[in-house]
Amino acid sequence: MRMNTALLVLALALPAALLVSAGRPDDETAKAETRKQDGDAAGKAPSEDQTTVTESPKKFSRSGYDITPLSRAAVEELAKKLDPEAYRITQKSGTEPAFCGTLLDNKKDGVYCCVVCGLPLFSSSHKFNSGTGWPSFFQPFDVAHVAGKQDNSHGMRRVEIACERCDAHLGHVFDDGPKPTGLRFCLNGAALKFYGKDEARPAESMPVATETAYFAGGCFWGIEHYFQQAPGVISAESGYMQGSTDNPTYKDVCGQDEMPASKRSEGFKGHAEVVKVVFDPKTISYRDLLRGFFEMHDPTQLNRQGPDYGTQYRSGLYTVSDAQTVEARAFVATLAAESTFKGRTIVTEIEPAKRFYSAETYHQDYLEKNPDRGCHIGKPWWLAKARAK
Ligand SMILES: [Zn+2]
Repeated sequence: MRMNTALLVLALALPAALLVSAGRPDDETAKAETRKQDGDAAGKAPSEDQTTVTESPKKFSRSGYDITPLSRAAVEELAKKLDPEAYRITQKSGTEPAFCGTLLDNKKDGVYCCVVCGLPLFSSSHKFNSGTGWPSFFQPFDVAHVAGKQDNSHGMRRVEIACERCDAHLGHVFDDGPKPTGLRFCLNGAALKFYGKDEARPAESMPVATETAYFAGGCFWGIEHYFQQAPGVISAESGYMQGSTDNPTYKDVCGQDEMPASKRSEGFKGHAEVVKVVFDPKTISYRDLLRGFFEMHDPTQLNRQGPDYGTQYRSGLYTVSDAQTVEARAFVATLAAESTFKGRTIVTEIEPAKRFYSAETYHQDYLEKNPDRGCHIGKPWWLAKARAK
């Protein structure tokens, strides 16, 4: 059985320190329990047949790398370049003798990549001296880059680790590592290729070229959750932006409408709850994201969405380039011309993006951590399509 190392650690009841702790909100900051509507809050976006949806099986890690599994034929081609020792270890699940690997005593700053496909797997900042004779790390470069498989060979119950992208055998993971994870990833040095921090890395060892877009559509929990599931979206993060104050907290944003005029600066504007979306423009276009956004929320509601009232719940598109501004305005104009929202006026504001402030940790991945919580938003096209299959 193959799985992400974080899941594997859980399955084997090893310390789950690799998982980001799922915080719980305080009562005062918890969202209204009344958020139960799950209907088509928004109308149908226009011109579905004209959108250039590329149904792609590509998979990305949150650190921005393409981790789409390579075909067996592609791996075999790459493996032809390996020296016999690296081939034996990565392709035949071999083990190098202890205290023999060249990377064991490497103390330079940099990244350890898969010797077969180049994916960054471990970082010098997580390396430690385990005394075992093999290079050891207490966590991967990105938990999505290293897969785990139960290994019951040689009369032992161990967890084998492999490259997520090319399935190269790397070594094993044990539960006797140092803090903060308590894990020890025990590597064969021959499965890794080291690049110093100032050394140029080849394209296969670099993150994909990404774009960023910002969306405000009411409570950020659901908007973030649904964007995170879009094909080509690398990460979706909840936060605050477009307000007049620096470093806002959730409490500040909730109370901004009640702030007395005497305390407001001239031209004061409150923050909006915003989702920052980082995406691969080769897999999904900004227009496709706009389409999903207008299916998720109701852009005709002024300063509210469903049961949530307040300027922080306003509808907004905050653009990072002139091209995005043009695209956003054109999309809204099309929605209005087609009377998508039954003639009701679209109040979505379109402004150049100001500084984005990330929301508190407990707001990130909130619906993933709290699946029983309801959400007011409609299903975007990528989920509607998945359900229809
Ligand atoms: Zn690999």
